[in-house]
Amino acid sequence: ATAQIGVTGLAVMGRNLARNLARNGFTVAVHNRSPERTRSLVDEHGDEGRFLPAESMADFVAALERPRAVIVMVKAGGPTDAVIDELVPLLDSGDIVVDCGNAHFADTRRREEALRSHGLHFVGTGVSGGEEGALHGPSIMPGGSAESYRKLGPIFEKIAAQVDGVPCCRHIGPDGAGHFVKMVHNGIEYADMQLIAEAYDLLRAGLSAEPAEIAEIFRGWNSGELESFLIEITADVLAHTDAATGRAFVDVVLDRAEQKGTGRWTVQSALDLGIPITGIAEATFARSLSGHADQRAAARRAFPDAGERWQVGDRETFVEDVRRALLASKIVAYAQGFDHIRAGSREYDWGIDLGGTATIWRGGCIIRARFLDRIRQAYDEQPELPTLLVAPWFADTVDDGVPSWRRVVADAARAGVPAPAFASSLAYFDALRAERLPAALIQGLRDNFGAHTYHRVDRDGTFHTRWAADRTEVQP
Ligand code: NDP
Repeated sequence: ATAQIGVTGLAVMGRNLARNLARNGFTVAVHNRSPERTRSLVDEHGDEGRFLPAESMADFVAALERPRAVIVMVKAGGPTDAVIDELVPLLDSGDIVVDCGNAHFADTRRREEALRSHGLHFVGTGVSGGEEGALHGPSIMPGGSAESYRKLGPIFEKIAAQVDGVPCCRHIGPDGAGHFVKMVHNGIEYADMQLIAEAYDLLRAGLSAEPAEIAEIFRGWNSGELESFLIEITADVLAHTDAATGRAFVDVVLDRAEQKGTGRWTVQSALDLGIPITGIAEATFARSLSGHADQRAAARRAFPDAGERWQVGDRETFVEDVRRALLASKIVAYAQGFDHIRAGSREYDWGIDLGGTATIWRGGCIIRARFLDRIRQAYDEQPELPTLLVAPWFADTVDDGVPSWRRVVADAARAGVPAPAFASSLAYFDALRAERLPAALIQGLRDNFGAHTYHRVDRDGTFHTRWAADRTEVQP
């Protein structure tokens, strides 16, 4: 027998992806550096479908039908290169290597170019949904050549999550496009989680409520516009009680958020492209700040009581204010994330379809939400939309939310409750819609100390004022 596809790297993600493939009727060759993982997969789940286990890379490759398609699901970085180096001499022209690990898109571009010179297709593929998603249907974001997608598409579309009969998988674009889009997905995930965490914190401070009560508020929100996987699990986590102490689970967890790097990559890439993804950046920095225990302790000692007592008037109004502020801030974060994808697509000539990207995030991935269907619609109707904020539904929703948004951010500032993502999203919105920005003064300063020149509102051309001399204006 020959396998239609192979998976090498059978830790939790690879194992579940291989099971998902087998459960969907594909014959799957399976391999892992240490053969115990291969054996345990077949021992424990061999009855779920057709697996062809191999202990050597050569046997693994020999078990595959041509053109061969090999999924690599190992630790990102050096291990991925090591596996590729081992695979390449065993493959023939036209074969496909799929990297489903969390690679940086620049690494994917480098690998794609190297494998192309061997006549091989290299397909950097973003996979979201964690281990559950890998098993039951992830969101899949494949890059690489259109030709490779002709073989992979029917397989991936079958094992991906399905929403309204549409698979959460599509060809994103050449070389690193898939991993780029996965990176921005994770950045948006950071922003979404930070906004949710701030909303929880504001509710807790403003209402003096216990986590279990706030869980109920989130449960309520999950049946409206905010409906999403993250809001749903927020209610679960907030309602959870620690068995050892009987206290709310969130109160016994150390308040130090960790990160594996995709948020940082997203911000670094946005800086390179000049795209203000302030929501994702605030979220990434908020995690960093939470980890600076010494500074936090010192500042707490120096400023024990900097805020005013927070007295919320009507509780229901306040909860609704926070909900609207959360929704508006979330729209900003997603608008910025899609701007980032558009800029990356232009820079690298990927031709990414923004509506299509939103389509495949509707299910399977961590940011899956009802909301993404609206984003899909907005970009499908108007692919050149200047910003998601001005698409009809989004513009109306933000407009409705503005008074709430301002109240929440102002109240939080007065009370000394940090809400960096809420506040910076509002500032971004106000900056975008401002008639005039103080950027004019910055240009004046740059011209003053560095003769960097400026443009005028009333005449074309480039100007400089002789600041150190007679202050006359010249056209250099
Ligand atoms: P890990 O990232 O923990 O990687 C373990 C796997 O890598 C094992 O199969 C291991 O083999 C293999 N490996 C490590 N070094 C080498 C090497 N030098 N040569 C050959 N194989 C090597 O596994 P996960 O399943 O958690 O993740 C796999 C990939 O998927 C990663 O890139 C991860 O970033 C990505 N990912 C993970 C998600 C998650 O929720 N965990 C979600 C989405 C993507 P051995 O058994 O022999 O040690």
